Amino acid sequence: MELAELIGLRPVPCGGLLVALTRRCPMSCAHCSTGSSLSVSEQPEPERLLRFIGSFGTENRPEVVMLTGGEPLLLPEPVAGLAALARAAGSRVALISGMFFARGGRVPDRIMRAITALDHFSASMDVHHEREVPREDVLRALRAVLDEGIPVSVHLTVSGPDDPYLMDAVADVRRVFGGRVPMLVNEVRPLGRAAHHVRATPPGPDGSLASPCALAAWPVVAFDGTVAACCNQWTVDRRPVPPHLRLGHIADDDWPTVRERSLGSPVLRMLRAVGPRRLHGRYASSPAPAGYCGSCHALADRPEVLAGAAREAGGRVGELLDRISADEQRAAGPAALVRRLGCAPYAHLVESDAVHEPVPAEEGSHR
Ligand code: SF4
Ligand code: SF4
Repeated sequence: MELAELIGLRPVPCGGLLVALTRRCPMSCAHCSTGSSLSVSEQPEPERLLRFIGSFGTENRPEVVMLTGGEPLLLPEPVAGLAALARAAGSRVALISGMFFARGGRVPDRIMRAITALDHFSASMDVHHEREVPREDVLRALRAVLDEGIPVSVHLTVSGPDDPYLMDAVADVRRVFGGRVPMLVNEVRPLGRAAHHVRATPPGPDGSLASPCALAAWPVVAFDGTVAACCNQWTVDRRPVPPHLRLGHIADDDWPTVRERSLGSPVLRMLRAVGPRRLHGRYASSPAPAGYCGSCHALADRPEVLAGAAREAGGRVGELLDRISADEQRAAGPAALVRRLGCAPYAHLVESDAVHEPVPAEEGSHR
């Protein structure tokens, strides 16, 4: 599975499932918003997680399961076990790692066994990671993974399109792999690793309040087993999760139940189709609080908005609206999604054979 296909599924409601396997991480990056380190141990209970993934059916499963952390490869055997279970139902499995193991350019056997159980492997690279694991070691380790036949991508987190680190890192990946390794470039935001794929604060195009939230499409299993509706780190970590963003818990619920709740929720349908600020604009009796996700969380205290969403999106029309919005975003392609939600001038790098010079921001950005 290549990165473009994975990103292309991002707006599809329940097309994917994110699983935060552990908050632990051997690295100590300054920008880490999951608060990960070796001194934290929070992780979903393994038996419950196996039961939840085991509830996938061949006709009712996410297309892709994305394993994240913390550092998921601190648990190589559970990674391989979960991947086998998900793949038995027909899902594909991807994982993103901070590459703690790559010092010296080697991939230890235990970790390579876990990686070869996957359909896609993503390496997270940024200036903080490189202080702990040199870039050339990461690239050598990625070469070893590619040689095992596993599709690879690089996820770069930068301060913005003019970050000198970005040009340098892109040039290095191109030099080593040509167009064979696609790249996803995100800008540093107050979000966690679960949000590495796309950011959660999309601007409204052309000043419009309507801005679909693609991140409300994939449920997320949080570190404590709670299933949240999106990967915004505030949502994943906040307790209690606002009711409209809580889909259940792996101790009590299976995948079909979580999927039904996500697809059937009028407010999630509206968030995916038009975003939170449009919802406020349409139904609220007072102005929306600042911020895209801030205004979404505030919906918990706006019963008139939730009631409006239920009226408008509770039936077949809401179902249709949800589907049409996802179809449109999917048809626009993965690069269009990253232009909207990631680092726009580098969005084209998400396609493995489309490694070109960055296009000017004016051409590549909706902002
Ligand atoms: S940013 Fe990633 S690699 Fe760095 S400490 Fe956090 S989880 Fe670990
Ligand atoms: S707008 Fe709401 S659903 Fe979307 S990412 Fe933000 S908090 Fe999550």
